[in-house]
Amino acid sequence: MDKEILISLAGNPNVGKSTVFNYLTGLKQHTGNWPGKTVDLAEGYFNLNNKKYRIVDLPGTYSLLATSKDEAVARDFICFGNSDITLVVVDATTLERNLNLVLQILEISNKAVLCVNLIDEAGKKKIFLDFEKLSSILKIPVQGTSARKGKGIKGLLRKIESCLQCGKNNDLRFFSNEIETAIDILNIPQKYNIKSRWIARKLIEGDEKIIEQIKKYTNIDTDEYYCEIEKAREYLKENNIDYKNLETICTKQTIKKAEDIAESVTTKEKSKGEDKDRKIDRFLTSKATGIPVMLLLLGFIFWLTISGANYPSLLLSKILFGIEKYLYKLLEFLPEFITNMLVSGMYHTLAWVVSVMLPPMAIFFPLFAILEDLGYLPRVAFNLDKCFKCAGAHGRQALTMCQGFGCNACGVMGCRIINSPRERLIAILTNNFVPCNGRFPTIIVLISIFFATSKILSSIYLLAVIIIGVLATLLVSKILSITVLRGKPSSFALELPPYRTPQFGKVILRSFLDRTLFVLGRAVIVALPAGLLIFLCGNIKIGEESILLILGNILDPFAKNFGLDGFILLSFILGFPANEIVIPILLMCYTATGNMVDYESTSMLGDLLRNNGWTHITALCTICFSLMHFPCATTCRTIYKETKSIKWTILSILLPTICGLIICFIIANIGKLFV
Ligand code: GDP
Repeated sequence: MDKEILISLAGNPNVGKSTVFNYLTGLKQHTGNWPGKTVDLAEGYFNLNNKKYRIVDLPGTYSLLATSKDEAVARDFICFGNSDITLVVVDATTLERNLNLVLQILEISNKAVLCVNLIDEAGKKKIFLDFEKLSSILKIPVQGTSARKGKGIKGLLRKIESCLQCGKNNDLRFFSNEIETAIDILNIPQKYNIKSRWIARKLIEGDEKIIEQIKKYTNIDTDEYYCEIEKAREYLKENNIDYKNLETICTKQTIKKAEDIAESVTTKEKSKGEDKDRKIDRFLTSKATGIPVMLLLLGFIFWLTISGANYPSLLLSKILFGIEKYLYKLLEFLPEFITNMLVSGMYHTLAWVVSVMLPPMAIFFPLFAILEDLGYLPRVAFNLDKCFKCAGAHGRQALTMCQGFGCNACGVMGCRIINSPRERLIAILTNNFVPCNGRFPTIIVLISIFFATSKILSSIYLLAVIIIGVLATLLVSKILSITVLRGKPSSFALELPPYRTPQFGKVILRSFLDRTLFVLGRAVIVALPAGLLIFLCGNIKIGEESILLILGNILDPFAKNFGLDGFILLSFILGFPANEIVIPILLMCYTATGNMVDYESTSMLGDLLRNNGWTHITALCTICFSLMHFPCATTCRTIYKETKSIKWTILSILLPTICGLIICFIIANIGKLFV
């Protein structure tokens, strides 16, 4: 095989780049209907006609001006990533806005192919594009696609191949004559994958940062062009252009050119689609209905999760705990202590985690993914935008919180979509206030044992807990933004993508495989060693008492101040590797034998808890502490990775823990007044 060919995949956010990438590579890069979810560089491979292609998916950006982290990453890769070809994906329904980026890329890239995606959506909106004309104006191959169905992808591959084989580079020039002539004055040889005309413009502008990079990556001695640069600047001055304003003027001309091109290749008939979108938006995002509808929808998802999860949970526990006796028999040849450790310790914890966690996750994640694919999540951010602004934070924080519902580590990583470092930090530090999927089961189980008599009530209480989490997020964000992270909220336009019919089958399967099994896998990996450790702590005795009992008793007086007991606190501490195992640990502690009870029914669990002194106050405090305590180990590691600071990581641990303890203290003391 020949040398590998490198393709960089660029485009505005939410145009289907990840879908094209997945189609070409067979990988499963996360797709979703909201701008800004591809924050990392993903790469994959595919083979075509005996050639190996490496494709790098760049973060979606609107421009290459490098005003944000994403833009800088995308621009640097396009300029200096040494790719053989840039594949630009655009949205056929909003060509004008997309062409701005295309023109910026064409100014830099020698070879490019344009993929006009979402032609099915454009068709529905009665937007028709003349691809041939577009191709002749831009001087690059253009292919229409509907990537979701794979339509046009074969044609796209053919165009990539022929573009690579064609010896000629694209030579589009679209600035005004005086600027193009000034650029001509610098005669930089075309040796690299970046166009020398773009390098010339940057030298004339005197953009120090980019000149440093040009020197570093291309070995061009920019000082050699000193005289020519001065000449070009002089020429511009004669034409009333100050070279310091050159970038702004070029940006304006690019936007104007994009508008002109889009207009000349687009035919649009009036369609009902847009009116429908606007009507739905009026309902989902208006002041009067936006937030109530959002709460109802979330409550409905919780109800589906709670009522749907119960039966599969029981069935799974029956099967998994049923296997236990066979395991005992199978391992009979081992010493009794070892068999107990493997079966009652490790396997039992595992069975608990799987039977309690799998069903709610398998329902919640796909439902959430459908909302995401539909384009609803940005509307949530839109509804909460004002609240976040008042709290001195960024409107997009709502999106990162939505990700936190699944897994706080993902939520923390998702904070990269926030450009301002101050607001990103606020979002990272407060992400743990939304309960992840590992904490949902604990909260749901306690609500249904102590407070709710029906599934509907359980869902309403769960919703209330989430609202408390959101309010705490806003309050803590506000406190941070007027103290350690002082500053004004940055203004930004929150984009509402068009509604798109979700691909139900694919979304459900993908979210099950990618999210449910991923989170479950992580829980299992943690549950096995944790089960072993707790079994040992429960069975190794110092004097008369097991280590578990001793530790619980030590913590007890402190925990009592907060409406908890020593074992509850111990479970949260031992559950640091993963929140999923808090309840199993607690049950092990209470049974004191170091073996867990079977998960037969919530009422049996309730009896066990009540027999150990639990009251409504204990349950309420445990729910609040579950909502607000230190993040799990994986999230802490992610926070450290994202902030690269021990100080912020420690603060992210302290903030929710202190809030949780304060709330528990208040509840416990109010509770005492009534007892
Ligand atoms: P990215 O942000 O550019 O990576 O966009 P994604 O690949 O995540 O796609 C954004 C949304 O558009 C997702 O909901 C996709 O399922 C959807 N999508 C992508 N390509 C098409 C297409 O050709 N037709 C339609 N109708 N939807 C598409």
